[in-house]
Amino acid sequence: MEVNNTMEHEDKLYGGIEAGGTKFVCAVGSGPDDIRAEIRFPTTNPDETIGQAIAFFREQQAAHGPLVALGVAAFGPVDPHPQSPTFGYITTTPKPGWANTDFVGRLQAALDLPVGFDTDVNGAALGEHRWGAAQDVDTFVYLTIGTGVGGGAMVNGRILHGLIHPEMGHMLLPHDWQADPYPGRCPFHGDCLEGMAAGPAIGERWGTPGHELPPDHPAWELQANYLALALHNLICILSPQRIILGGGVMDQPHLLPLVCQRVQASLNDYVQSPAIMEQIDSYIVPPGLGARAGVLGAMALAQQEVDSN
Ligand code: ZN
Repeated sequence: MEVNNTMEHEDKLYGGIEAGGTKFVCAVGSGPDDIRAEIRFPTTNPDETIGQAIAFFREQQAAHGPLVALGVAAFGPVDPHPQSPTFGYITTTPKPGWANTDFVGRLQAALDLPVGFDTDVNGAALGEHRWGAAQDVDTFVYLTIGTGVGGGAMVNGRILHGLIHPEMGHMLLPHDWQADPYPGRCPFHGDCLEGMAAGPAIGERWGTPGHELPPDHPAWELQANYLALALHNLICILSPQRIILGGGVMDQPHLLPLVCQRVQASLNDYVQSPAIMEQIDSYIVPPGLGARAGVLGAMALAQQEVDSN
């Protein structure tokens, strides 16, 4: 287990930016029980949106005193490697105006603070480890299913980066074209996990947004199947001690139990652990930090940045 540094952070203030493709959430505080201020605004172009974040942190520092560090949990792809010349950039995103944006550089130039930077899902995973549903494990996966599908992993107490960072949303799954003729909507791969199971794919396949489909609609069986196939792969590859499923699509309360059943059926008693065979509803779980997983994850990145130096 990692040393839990929660206590020594209590009297210090950190800033967090959950930088999403549609909105930014910025907050100042020291943890989930101490959020001093929070603001959200739409993601437009980098000048305006990063400018709004900088203005917020300047105001907060004037009101509450200096921040120790900032954390940014960003939509991606991003460059999270501190040794890289493009560290802190949003890199090849198709989002207009944001490709090759030096996000960390702009913040540091304006605020002169250490900045921890990672993907939104890696940030959320770190936050769940520090304060949420993964405090008692050191190897786990955080997967979010919303307008896209993304996943972050902690392995042996450290967030996994590897070559760049995991892109779990773009894994390929078996596709039964007869049962599901929908071709998928990922611009890069068509029927990858995100192409088949993100919120917009559900809406496009059935002609109705997911949140308007009744619980007994066949959409949910199909959705549970795709998610279970993805979790089957993740369990076999990373041997996670827990899997956290977040994102707007998981707000359907009937979906998580279906996914659990399908994971058990798919693994077929091969992975011999009581966590999967007997207690799967405490193995595949919702985020402990709920809707604040993103911005608290960013704050956890700020604390990690201070801890690591
Ligand atoms: Zn894809």
